[in-house]
Amino acid sequence: MRITTVQGDITEQEVDAVVNAANSSLMGGGGVDGAIHRRGGPAILDECRALRASRYGDGLPTGQAVATTAGNLPARWVIHTVGPVHSREEDRSALLASCYRESLKVADSLGAATVAFPAISAGIYGWPMDDAARVAVTTVRAASTSVEEVRFVLFGADALAAFERAL
Ligand code: ADP
Repeated sequence: MRITTVQGDITEQEVDAVVNAANSSLMGGGGVDGAIHRRGGPAILDECRALRASRYGDGLPTGQAVATTAGNLPARWVIHTVGPVHSREEDRSALLASCYRESLKVADSLGAATVAFPAISAGIYGWPMDDAARVAVTTVRAASTSVEEVRFVLFGADALAAFERAL
């Protein structure tokens, strides 16, 4: 598997699947989540609502992942995953690692060969960027998957530098 990094907007990526740093409601939010729903259009929220009405009545649990259409995005699918909120008292990195692993499993089940990830949990959920990058890179490297390219799409120069250090 090839691991690449790019500074940019995840909604613009021409990949098979983009991963959304969602919240468990699946009803949208800020950051990556807001951008994906704004640019992807209402078809994504329609499928999220259907998921809430069926498999995920209580919301998508932290560390799990589920796919929907990508609506108007260049990608074909959005894989929604819920990162853990960062805590100083408790090590939640296993849940963050699970987001990457479970998202890649969903990508495999879809037959997605190229997948773009944001820095999950490193925005509103408060994870320090270097540690978020370390967990992301080590987990993706160790994953057994048919995905051919994982692209980390970072919003700023600092985030890009953190992922490059981790790699
Ligand atoms: P979380 O709630 O999991 O912390 P956020 O969406 O708040 O997720 O942030 C995750 C990371 O994604 C942050 O580093 C943030 O700066 C970045 N980000 C926000 N919008 C975009 C975007 N459109 N494309 C790529 N990265 C983004």
